[in-house]
Amino acid sequence: MTPENRLVFVGTSDLGGIVRGKSFPQSEWEARLTKGVGWVPTNAQITCFDTISDSPFGSLGDLALIPDPQARFTIDTIDRPMDFAIGDICHLDGEPWNNCTRSLARKAISDFHQTTGAMPLIAFEHEFQIRQQTVRSGDAFGLKGFRDSQIWAEPLIQALRQTTCVPDTFMKEYGPAQYELTNKPATGITAADNAVILRVLTHDVLSQFGVTASFSPILDPASVGNGVHIHLSFIDENTDPLTYDPRDPHGMSRLTRHFIGGILKHLDQLVAILAPSEISYLRLVPHRWSAAFNNLGYRDREACVRICPTSGDNEQKIARQFNFEVRAIDGAASPHLALAALMFAGTQGIKDETEPPPPTQEDLSLLNPQALEQKGFKRLPQSLGEALDLFDKSQAARGWFGAEFVDLYVAHKRGEMEQLDGLDWAEKCKRYGDVY
Ligand code: GLU
Ligand code: MG
Repeated sequence: MTPENRLVFVGTSDLGGIVRGKSFPQSEWEARLTKGVGWVPTNAQITCFDTISDSPFGSLGDLALIPDPQARFTIDTIDRPMDFAIGDICHLDGEPWNNCTRSLARKAISDFHQTTGAMPLIAFEHEFQIRQQTVRSGDAFGLKGFRDSQIWAEPLIQALRQTTCVPDTFMKEYGPAQYELTNKPATGITAADNAVILRVLTHDVLSQFGVTASFSPILDPASVGNGVHIHLSFIDENTDPLTYDPRDPHGMSRLTRHFIGGILKHLDQLVAILAPSEISYLRLVPHRWSAAFNNLGYRDREACVRICPTSGDNEQKIARQFNFEVRAIDGAASPHLALAALMFAGTQGIKDETEPPPPTQEDLSLLNPQALEQKGFKRLPQSLGEALDLFDKSQAARGWFGAEFVDLYVAHKRGEMEQLDGLDWAEKCKRYGDVY
């Protein structure tokens, strides 16, 4: 194929976390760097089922989806080479559009940086399941399950390396035909871009081996969920770590404590962004090792925010490794919106000097509501409808994301819910499983 006929796809990861966009011949790259490709405001209301939710824009208006040259990837190790760029949705004069998921993430990261002088280091950990793999007993974390996957996993690692992703670990997870793939931390917007790329390439590479992957939050209501865990730590301008303080009993620096405090305080209002499908709430229940309460846990996988282990034998190594993860997220969330939500809430916590409740290492589901409240914990919303009501009413979210975006998002998701009216849980899982 001659270069002028190769197509470059420029895409946005939209409100439903679906990559949508348009392509143009490679020869047009320079021109498209300024004018982008035409984009329509109402596209924001296309649900993951391809229906269109209520849109305040109707048929009006024009935007441009402009490729970011820093986020262009030419992957030529796979059967069908891919030239793919992540873009920003802008007004025709190039100003960012308020409802662009990537611009919102940029804004949140920049607020954090302006408030603290620090930069976040972020790594997304993804779980997914293979839909047609034979499920055998003895496969949890097993060598056999790993060997089944190697045929597609190694080409996937090779493809990821041609992007800004640096693969960290890959394993056969606990669940049936479930795998986990983690990127090494990256700074700023690149981390969310990497999560988009990881999902795109997993689907793309695996399909070339006749294998279908799904990142859907849960494929079978009676079985395990697929989580997305976002790991966070902070560095200063010399890349020195700012997350750890040996004087704190759990190793948290003041910056870390307040950031986590802000996340936990606002979490119930943000779950609609982090766990944004109806079936996400089958996963966010006790004893699924996901997150059911707004708690901080010390090395406890039932906690919504978990302080992760370190293995260093000296303070310097520990300080570099020290990180925490937020576990209430799943693969139906736009990585850009999820990152924006965490950064906005964390930055608010720093501004307000919010202290998190003390870390737990106990089963909170055994406590009665009064005991929970006394300890400063809340059960997270138990349905998408409940989560959307809290997001809709959240003055904090309206301040961070903008009122227009909150209204748009709530209408988008309510339209998505209408598509599932009357279906049972197994059917809802199937619908989402086919999409993500
Ligand atoms: N599958 C669990 C989730 O839905 C996570 C299991 C683990 O890796 O700790 O988040
Ligand atoms: Mg896992």
